[in-house]
Amino acid sequence: MPTFLHDTPESVAVVLSALKDTQTLLFDCEGPSLGMQGGGVVLLSLGTPQSDDVHLVHITPIGLPAPAPDIRVSGLFYECGGVMIHNVVDMQVVVMQAQRLADERKSVQARAQRLIPYLPPREVLGKPELYAKLLKLPALGSTVKELKIGGAEGIANVELKRRLRPVVNWSDDVLTQDHIDYAANDIDLLHKLYTHFTANVAPTATQSQSSDGSAANAFAFDQTLRDASAAYVSMWTTSAGQPCASDPYRGHPLFPLGILDEPGWGDNLVVCEGCKRELMPECFPKNDATGKGNLNAGRGAKCLVCRAVQLHNEKPPPPRQMRR
Ligand SMILES: [Zn+2]
Repeated sequence: MPTFLHDTPESVAVVLSALKDTQTLLFDCEGPSLGMQGGGVVLLSLGTPQSDDVHLVHITPIGLPAPAPDIRVSGLFYECGGVMIHNVVDMQVVVMQAQRLADERKSVQARAQRLIPYLPPREVLGKPELYAKLLKLPALGSTVKELKIGGAEGIANVELKRRLRPVVNWSDDVLTQDHIDYAANDIDLLHKLYTHFTANVAPTATQSQSSDGSAANAFAFDQTLRDASAAYVSMWTTSAGQPCASDPYRGHPLFPLGILDEPGWGDNLVVCEGCKRELMPECFPKNDATGKGNLNAGRGAKCLVCRAVQLHNEKPPPPRQMRR
């Protein structure tokens, strides 16, 4: 994994030259409190599926906005330093969609297992139908481990990430070898995931082989995934704004609803009291026994994700005192 660090304005041209011929760009970024109010990008990490080279652009010493890649991009970020990058596919969205396809043959109960221990087992296993569309954001490292992607090398990637995560602080002024190794390792993980998902047949019920014997439905980084990724990444650029770190309804590992399943949205959106997002009525708990209608979707309603977050954060009731 040859890694190149670029930290001068002149070196940005080297990055563009190295990446200009690729159709697909692997992209990640690092910084303190990324995605939160007051957060910022310190390092841009770039790679391509055709090469093991990793290019790290340290923005702080360059003192310029992020470079605008003059290439077609089919991954992996959306807006950076005012530069809009189109055709983004977020790898977490890919992993979640692949998990859902793999889960199609499992029971509702078995699918609900993924939400444990995030939700109390009694709640999630007692009302699995309520949480059928809830997904936990997958950690890319554990996905590599779970699917045994990249063999021993993949395991080494995951181990390195686990070891460095607690020691790497992106608020530091100086970039250490640990920072560099951590960021480069993430691109290597993305590289392995991209290779895996573009080469492997998605486990759907409609698997078929084309006449040349290749998989007809290798996981497609298609428009559906681009639309879902765009909805996910641009979620907080709406009136809701970026969440602050202390907001319990916007800083948790559950995937927001209405991104993978309701691309068309609609007119009758309801604002969730927890996350302040405008969502379809189907994203709110139903309160009638037949499961029809979304009678709870109204003023002051919390979506199913926020309901789960609330349940997760509620302290268990204190043990009852025994009287002697
Ligand atoms: Zn909500």
